[in-house]
Amino acid sequence: MSTFRQKLLTTLAAVVAPLALVAAPAASSQAAETDAASGRWVTVKPGYDPSQIGPGDNRVTRGGIDGLGSNRSTYCAGKTQPGTIRLKNYLQHYFPTTRASGLYNCRKIANSNEWSLHAEGRAVDHFLNVNNAAQKKAGDAILYAFTKKDKNAVPAGLAQRWGVQEIIWNCKIWTAARADEGVRAYGPCSTSSSPTIRHEDHVHIAQHRVGAAEGTTAYTGYQVWLPDAV
Ligand SMILES: [Zn+2]
Repeated sequence: MSTFRQKLLTTLAAVVAPLALVAAPAASSQAAETDAASGRWVTVKPGYDPSQIGPGDNRVTRGGIDGLGSNRSTYCAGKTQPGTIRLKNYLQHYFPTTRASGLYNCRKIANSNEWSLHAEGRAVDHFLNVNNAAQKKAGDAILYAFTKKDKNAVPAGLAQRWGVQEIIWNCKIWTAARADEGVRAYGPCSTSSSPTIRHEDHVHIAQHRVGAAEGTTAYTGYQVWLPDAV
């Protein structure tokens, strides 16, 4: 077993490991809202502490959720945005890659006159290869975690928390602007054999401006239900 694979399996286990205790608001009669008879609400800010709650650690939450948003890229920001650096760190914490992630890049989208979300520093290219079984599993897990219904049945709940507006991986795409369609086929795959254009060698994940500025609840904090151990 390769070192990469061992590390990945270790971190995949961590994704579903018990939640680290972060804060303990006074226990109250919230049980009716939850899926366990006893427990407590804890506040998490995974944007600042990735170890608090992993992308696969799906828990009942309370309070508001961010909603979906999307902003086109219109200029070169000269840097990666702070929230996007933290999103990169979060992904790296649970899904190690073989090389450093791609971040700020002042360029247009391939075969387009539109600025890439990398130009505003709001996108992460997280390198994984579909031809490696463990890495493909990790990429699939990222796409699924951000776009599925959360435990409160909110579609793309984790994307909302992080302000994610777009994910492309392995000829599939999800965008906030077309969230009602869910994960769908990625158009350029019908005409390109390039692994990079097909996103078979990296997960592309991008944020709207509020998320990139650390303004969504992954950064400002939200409450999750932590059942008592039985
Ligand atoms: Zn990208």
